[in-house]
Amino acid sequence: MTNSGLILMTSPIERARLGRYDRDGGTRVVPELPEVETMVRGLRPAMEGGRIVRLEPLDASMLVGGAINDFARRAEGATIESVGRRGKWVVLALSTGFIVIQPRMTGGFWLTEPERPEHIRLRFHLEQPRAMVWYCDARRLGKIAWHDDRESAQTAFARSHGPDALEITRGELARALARTNRGIKPTLMDQKVTAGIGNIYADEILHASRIHPERSSATLSRGEIERIHMAMGTILARAIELEGSTFDAGYRTVLGLEGGFLAQNAVYGRANLPCPSCARPIQKTKIAGLMARPTYYCPGCQRARSPGATSSARGCRRP
Ligand SMILES: [Zn+2]
Repeated sequence: MTNSGLILMTSPIERARLGRYDRDGGTRVVPELPEVETMVRGLRPAMEGGRIVRLEPLDASMLVGGAINDFARRAEGATIESVGRRGKWVVLALSTGFIVIQPRMTGGFWLTEPERPEHIRLRFHLEQPRAMVWYCDARRLGKIAWHDDRESAQTAFARSHGPDALEITRGELARALARTNRGIKPTLMDQKVTAGIGNIYADEILHASRIHPERSSATLSRGEIERIHMAMGTILARAIELEGSTFDAGYRTVLGLEGGFLAQNAVYGRANLPCPSCARPIQKTKIAGLMARPTYYCPGCQRARSPGATSSARGCRRP
């Protein structure tokens, strides 16, 4: 199966607009922090404070922590106290426990009836504020987990994730980067270093920071790490404001709309188009540690440097 069915919702004008972007090496674009945050923000008014009259899990293979009947029984009659996000996971805090959903490649929530009912994996029947909410996952690569308490949900997250990309401090980031000689791009995408960044936002953050994607993480100067840390905050916040990145038939908001970030971004999907900062053509390449996905960068703004060529080595030495 190659399409989620959502391609039916893409108008000819939208397809023409998307046509100016490269395809991502034949791979799907995975929802990252801004897309999952947009899902969560869209779900809050529809779910928070509501009572689950009935929950219908439709695919046992995606459930973790209980059989279909367990999920349905535990959620029935529960109040949805909050809808939150940890990294790229959606966390529904119920009065009876926690449902943690990993959308992975093709998962997403719908507030209108999905056009492809065969992709529905969860059906929430709510008393209010909205009668129905659907969760779909075309390729079933995600997971739906039940946790009885917050501690269990947090432990599951902490096993495979570092601090959230919007919450990590500059010191935490600096310590994590100092520990590895891997390239900075695959390091930023490592969820154990920081949770939430994937291929699109790693490219955008590094362009905004003027750092070459192959620079060894451990050789970055304090000033360079500070630029990366600041760019993480500003790029991710802007992407959330624009409701994320829609690429091909992938991610949509809970109302089936496209995110607006890729109409304004600097490098991702813009091979050979001019860099918005220096007008040089954006390069598309593959880098070590990330051969399956394309990397976009500006050779003018993001120069590859030898590790020794830091500004302090060049002229700031004390006499
Ligand atoms: Zn440039």
